[in-house]
Amino acid sequence: MAEIRTVNLTKVYGSLRAVDNLTYTFHDGKVTCLLGPSGCGKTTLLRMIAGLEFITSGKIYFGNKEVTPLPTSARNIGMVFQYPVVYRGLTVEENIALPLIKEKLDKKDIDERVDEAIKLLAIEDVRKKEAWALPSVLRQKVAVAREVARRPDIILFDEPLTNVDASSKALFKRSFKELTQKLNQTIIYVTHDQTEAMTFGDYIALTYKGKIVQYDSPRVLYGQPKEVFGGWFLGNPGMNFFEPKVEQLGNKYKITTDIFEKDIVTDLPDSAKKKMSFGIRPEHIMVRNEPIGEHSIKVKLKQKWITVGGQYLLTAQVGDIILRIKTLPEIGRDIKDEFFCYIPMDKVFAYDSEGINFKLNLN
Ligand code: ATP
Repeated sequence: MAEIRTVNLTKVYGSLRAVDNLTYTFHDGKVTCLLGPSGCGKTTLLRMIAGLEFITSGKIYFGNKEVTPLPTSARNIGMVFQYPVVYRGLTVEENIALPLIKEKLDKKDIDERVDEAIKLLAIEDVRKKEAWALPSVLRQKVAVAREVARRPDIILFDEPLTNVDASSKALFKRSFKELTQKLNQTIIYVTHDQTEAMTFGDYIALTYKGKIVQYDSPRVLYGQPKEVFGGWFLGNPGMNFFEPKVEQLGNKYKITTDIFEKDIVTDLPDSAKKKMSFGIRPEHIMVRNEPIGEHSIKVKLKQKWITVGGQYLLTAQVGDIILRIKTLPEIGRDIKDEFFCYIPMDKVFAYDSEGINFKLNLN
């Protein structure tokens, strides 16, 4: 096991900064999911950590050891790719044993490690079968088992579920989560799928335009997005954002929006005085057909449909703002063409002109 540390790590392709000056520590013995949209630099970063990509500048350490100049073979890493790598003509257990035989380990040691990996991946039933002929989900499990059996310091996964058929994904997900909990291994897992990242990651490194915009546990990342991008990218649908009107009032600022029933008068950081926005998650907006306490606002229903788990997704208009709201089946079902929303201020996030979160002083 080893933590992975990058220092000013950069990869430039022509004028594109695919990985932009990253100084980060990926925690020892934990699963970090690199999550972000297509083209944000996840695979490039993973390949630099693996030693498969030349770096433009910066350094990489595994624990205290600098690995920047080392080739992949000297980095003691395991890798699992989008396409399951299994060797034709070999059984599952022979596939897993192959790298260990190449390393010239004792037969007893090899057998023990193969048995352990087969058990961890729950593939006992197919251990004598030819790996190549198995369905994609099992082939990928064999590829994972082979890396686990090698006991490297770090295992890197590059979107390993991409080519697993949809009906088997749930099965793989369950056993992968159990596996990582037992392994206590430093793992980096690249994905653009937020559900995978939320399920597997002890930490998520949210990546955007070559930078990591937030590195936190899934709960913190979802609950307290430090940047507009995190609020927008995570969630289904993501946060609602709206820009209030900001006016100077002596040494304070008056913030007005159609969403808040009252204006707010407060201090603002310099970065938010000209332009700011508010964000609120769709599930945090309360809705009823009648007013909710003294502070709810009246809105017009635009659309209503049922989502996963029977929850209702509503879109509603107030002034120029369209709100997306997620609500329980028993409430959503009866919502009328005009209804009331209550926005709890403790669930509202304020962002400055650069899209960075700041604390709004409400006293
Ligand atoms: P995806 O999920 O689509 O693979 P990603 O987040 O992994 O996306 P990368 O594959 O790391 O993104 O690519 C980051 C950026 O670098 C993209 O804009 C991509 O087009 C560019 N890029 C990657 N490899 C090369 C290359 N060999 N030459 C030029 N540009 C490249």
